[in-house]
Amino acid sequence: MIPYARQWIEEDDIAAVTQVLRSDWLTTGPKVAEFEAKLAEVCGTRYAVAVSSGTAALHAMMYAINIRPGDEVIVPAMTFAATANAVVYQGGTPVFADVDPETLLIDPASVEAKLTDKTRAIVAVDYAGQPANYSGLESLALGRDAHLLADACHSIGATYHGRPTGSLAACSVFSFHAVKHVAMGEGGAVTTNTASFAAWARMFRNHGRCTDGGMLDLGYNYRLPDIQCALGISQLGKINTSLACREFVARQYDGAFRDLDGARPLRRENGRSHAYHLYVVQFDLEQFKVGTCEIAKRLRERGVGTQIHYRPVHLLRYYRERFGTQPGMCPVAEHASEQILSLPMYYGMTEKDVDLVIDSVREVVKECRR
Ligand SMILES: *Cc1c(COP(=O)(O)O)cnc(C)c1O
Repeated sequence: MIPYARQWIEEDDIAAVTQVLRSDWLTTGPKVAEFEAKLAEVCGTRYAVAVSSGTAALHAMMYAINIRPGDEVIVPAMTFAATANAVVYQGGTPVFADVDPETLLIDPASVEAKLTDKTRAIVAVDYAGQPANYSGLESLALGRDAHLLADACHSIGATYHGRPTGSLAACSVFSFHAVKHVAMGEGGAVTTNTASFAAWARMFRNHGRCTDGGMLDLGYNYRLPDIQCALGISQLGKINTSLACREFVARQYDGAFRDLDGARPLRRENGRSHAYHLYVVQFDLEQFKVGTCEIAKRLRERGVGTQIHYRPVHLLRYYRERFGTQPGMCPVAEHASEQILSLPMYYGMTEKDVDLVIDSVREVVKECRR
């Protein structure tokens, strides 16, 4: 079975971890600072704060910009639930914006329609690994005195008009979960150029304690241990190879699906490089006898694993019950979620794997079209 994603761990990654296991530090030691410095270099930011997961990074970011009860934060409907959950952790209200039908990136026109006097931040999500429309979102944020934030969990190493993700918003977050580009098992980080945001996030990850040991505010244990940072340093060193491999796979998929009626890849925007955390195909279901569930089942029978990223967050039961969100609020995301599958995309895919995916998609589309 070819999975939709998988990690790539080599002997040098294993050696980096075992070296830490033989050292004096297992938790917060020299590897944390080394990892943070390396990540800040990749992102071109002054600061990077490593935390225990991407979700912890989102929480620390919402804390650092001081989201509180009554505040609204605009997030795209097409994202992982954690993007919105982090707003709720701080007592804020997530407001869901719709996405562009061809890129599934947050749509600035929808964001504009959802701005209110309570809007404190807008979160750009670099869906699938393609940077969002940062210039459009930035002018909307500036006009409201709100912060532009980024959930860059999909897009490490991508660029927007030459600038790396992680540096495109007031604060950005990354995940180092096993399916992401830089795999640590679990892990995350906040990147920023603002010293105070970095300082608040650092305090927050360690029980709200400041450097002299006093406790200034309520915090958490969101620390990322040296063991995992050693793996992160090693993995980060391979990011360019991983990105090149993903780009190579994407080009083959693009070429193969260009002339395939009924299935089309997401649109790529000019001036942005794509990190291809995911390779998402949209099926034009009006041309099909079946839905994506059946398409996924038939692909699985041929040894090709797929996933749906994502069910729109505002349709999840928790949000419907707690915030009264409903179908119809983000029609583009709702329609798209019925039509999308993420195909296998990871560093380490062989040409044989890619060929099997392409042949299987062609066959299944042929079988299932009206
Ligand atoms: C993976 C991911 C997260 C959460 O990361 P974890 O490390 O699993 O907590 C948040 N947002 C998006 C868009 C993600 O893909």
